[in-house]
Amino acid sequence: MKYIVLVADGMADYPLQELEGRTPLEAARTPNMDFMARNGLLGRAKTIPDKMTPASDIANISILGYDPSKFYTGRGPLEAANLGVFLDDNDVAFRCNLVTVSGDKLTDYSAGHISSKEAVSLIERINQKFGSQDLRFYPGVSYRNLLVVKNGALQQLETVKCKAPHDILGQDIFKNLPHGNNAGVLIQLMKDSRPILETHEINLVRLDLKENPANMLWLWGQGKKSSMPAFLTQYGLSGSVISAVDLIKGMGKILGLEVVNIPGATGYYDTDYEGKAKAALRCLQKNDFVFLHVEAPDEAGHNGDLREKILAIERFDQLVVGTILEAFKQKSNFRILVLADHPTPIALRTHTADPVPFTMFGTDIVGEAAAGYNEKEALKSELFFEKGHELMEYFLKLKGR
Ligand SMILES: [Zn+2]
Repeated sequence: MKYIVLVADGMADYPLQELEGRTPLEAARTPNMDFMARNGLLGRAKTIPDKMTPASDIANISILGYDPSKFYTGRGPLEAANLGVFLDDNDVAFRCNLVTVSGDKLTDYSAGHISSKEAVSLIERINQKFGSQDLRFYPGVSYRNLLVVKNGALQQLETVKCKAPHDILGQDIFKNLPHGNNAGVLIQLMKDSRPILETHEINLVRLDLKENPANMLWLWGQGKKSSMPAFLTQYGLSGSVISAVDLIKGMGKILGLEVVNIPGATGYYDTDYEGKAKAALRCLQKNDFVFLHVEAPDEAGHNGDLREKILAIERFDQLVVGTILEAFKQKSNFRILVLADHPTPIALRTHTADPVPFTMFGTDIVGEAAAGYNEKEALKSELFFEKGHELMEYFLKLKGR
């Protein structure tokens, strides 16, 4: 049996006045997902456990069938895995942003989406200055870099409260520094990074070019290595992950899934939807499980761009779901699960923790003849997973009815 999971990030939404009370999913033309809902199962899953933040990494851990309240240790360890940085049991990995500060204010969480090439030089300089047996900085992609505190050098670092830089834009940095046990060391690193970065020639050139300088490090998102068992151990399947997002690729690596990079996968509106679907089909020739993730509807949600959100949903339906369905419709022994990881409502421009609608179709899945795939139809279904991570087992092991 081939198992295919297709995730459209942030696809779920709320009814909108501009759409006469319909949601973007209802308004979008989605014949393929509607076909699945009409001929398969429709339901809802709560991918964000109570008291956890509605973040994509947490939601996608649920979808992959692992309880985030048990296995989620922060984004740092996922990013470390994506960069191929091995963590020992006592290491703590931090996301280390290159940010722009102006006076006391944080003005850009991404330092003008600085190039990876520039970031490598800056992080190298930081390593020369502050790196040690216990502290190691790693360049990542653009502003998204990594700090690993080795060998339990600082106790209880994982309990320090750190703010995400994109949440404190325009705010006073000194009111948003880390706090808790051993936070002092982190604060010192962040403050000491400023004079070194400010005078680096890369930043002097950026200033000349009127680009935002990467003039401070911002540490957050820390955690220890996750103890998630491999997907093969947990579910008995080998498989692949296809995504443009570092966190999801890192998750795939931790789970021992093959992470497939697609040249045209951008994580934005212009991503190569069809390229991803075709790559999934290639992966399924050798393995039995594939997890395909598309970021675009979430980006449209964050930008409050209804037109792009509907377009992203329609492209996902046509080019991803449609391509996969077309390849399998005539075959037996396959199952497809389609869902959003969390809602990113246009009206709020941020994630929410509401349950998401899902639909599954394929071998031994007997339909309930829902009208289509959307939030309102899913609400009518009795199928609800209070613990979102239990959906995976249901999807894989569901017996014919
Ligand atoms: Zn997401």
